[in-house]
Amino acid sequence: MIATASSTGAAPALTHLNEEERMFRAQVRQFAREQVAPYVREMDEHSKFRPELLKQLFDLGLMGIEVPEEHGGQAGSFFQCVLAVEELSAVDASAGVIVDVQNTLVNNAFIRWATEEQKRRYLPRLATDQVGCYALSEAGSGSDAFAMAATATEDGDYYVLNGRKLWISNAAEGQIFLLFANVNPAAGYKGVTAFLVERSYPGFQVGKKEDKLGLRASSTCELLLDGCRVPRANVLGEVGKGYKIAIETLNEGRIGIGAQMIGIARGAHDAAVAYAKQRKQFGKTIGEFQGVQFPLAEMATEIEAARLLVYNAARLRDAGQPFVTEAAMAKYFSSVMAEKAASLAIETFGGIGITKECPAEKFYRDVKIGRIYEGTSNMQLMTIGKKLFS
Ligand SMILES: Cc1cc2nc3c(=O)[nH]c(=O)nc-3n(C[C@H](O)[C@H](O)[C@H](O)COP(=O)(O)OP(=O)(O)OC[C@H]3O[C@@H](n4cnc5c(N)ncnc54)[C@H](O)[C@@H]3O)c2cc1C
Repeated sequence: MIATASSTGAAPALTHLNEEERMFRAQVRQFAREQVAPYVREMDEHSKFRPELLKQLFDLGLMGIEVPEEHGGQAGSFFQCVLAVEELSAVDASAGVIVDVQNTLVNNAFIRWATEEQKRRYLPRLATDQVGCYALSEAGSGSDAFAMAATATEDGDYYVLNGRKLWISNAAEGQIFLLFANVNPAAGYKGVTAFLVERSYPGFQVGKKEDKLGLRASSTCELLLDGCRVPRANVLGEVGKGYKIAIETLNEGRIGIGAQMIGIARGAHDAAVAYAKQRKQFGKTIGEFQGVQFPLAEMATEIEAARLLVYNAARLRDAGQPFVTEAAMAKYFSSVMAEKAASLAIETFGGIGITKECPAEKFYRDVKIGRIYEGTSNMQLMTIGKKLFS
């Protein structure tokens, strides 16, 4: 548990939790342990998130944490989104990414850039029963996201979208897509525009679902745009300013990925410590051997360090202070740390760690994506380096 008021008389650090946040975290933790945990293995094996659990995430308000009450949400903070993603990911990283994308990318973009009419139309749905997706990447444009090939051409009251999006999280369940396409490819990134696309629009189709190493219960799909007609009223923000929406949402979203990573690390580490307390070799529990205990103690320290980076970035964001470098550091460090934690957990379990009987095996598969999506580790280092050398 995070410390409360400082005994030194110094002002409490931004990373301390207040009473409301502690209660919120306890509720999500209980939900994850009691309602999600029993289905983790089944969902991983079948590569499918249980619809009943998805409904529970909505019913608990976890899909609309920051959405204002007038639009059916919880009127909570970004920091609470981070707490929810951490708690869910400590049990199932797929549940974590569903809540993460909905809150930190999709709802976040609506809250910041949607018109009142767009908010009225979409936020209540996103907060209560419809999954939102964030569609930026394509086969030819990942790190170089604005080299996208998807185009949008004006046609009266509509834009006509053509192209393909790739790697879109939760698209199999998705109903509302925040989708980026270029209205003027000759202008490069200055043509990139954000559109609100509904699954039912003509010319829109969810394509192939990827068969992945980890995060198997969170669908990752291709989107096909074949003359997809999107009303002009569904442009989010200004035409040609989609690059700004993409950059700014991802700057915030990657704090959520940091939270997912500390959740995975904690889940793997807790399982390893519990095992080390009961597994006996040479007449002792293995946790009594310094060779087992010290790496776990070191890992506990690194998890806490990553948590402080993630919480600090989230607090800065909520306080309206600059946070971009801190967010990049949080995502970079926590994803490297979590890989190490999941790997150490497997080693602590020994042979059984490699099997599906052991929770560490799934944490190890789930953790790998942390260094790739919402900006690879190299992209985070570029952001951090830019500050150093500007
Ligand atoms: C499970 C999953 C879920 C995803 N969900 C979404 C989603 O919901 N929405 C969405 O839009 N996208 C999503 N993505 C896409 C993800 O954001 C991209 O995969 C990521 O940005 C990397 O792009 P890429 O795969 O094209 O790799 P590339 O950009 O081709 O990178 C390959 C390697 O080259 C390195 N590299 C590239 N350029 C440079 C450079 N200039 N300097 C140094 N190194 C460089 C990278 O660091 C990386 O190691 C998802 C991906 C996965 C796997």
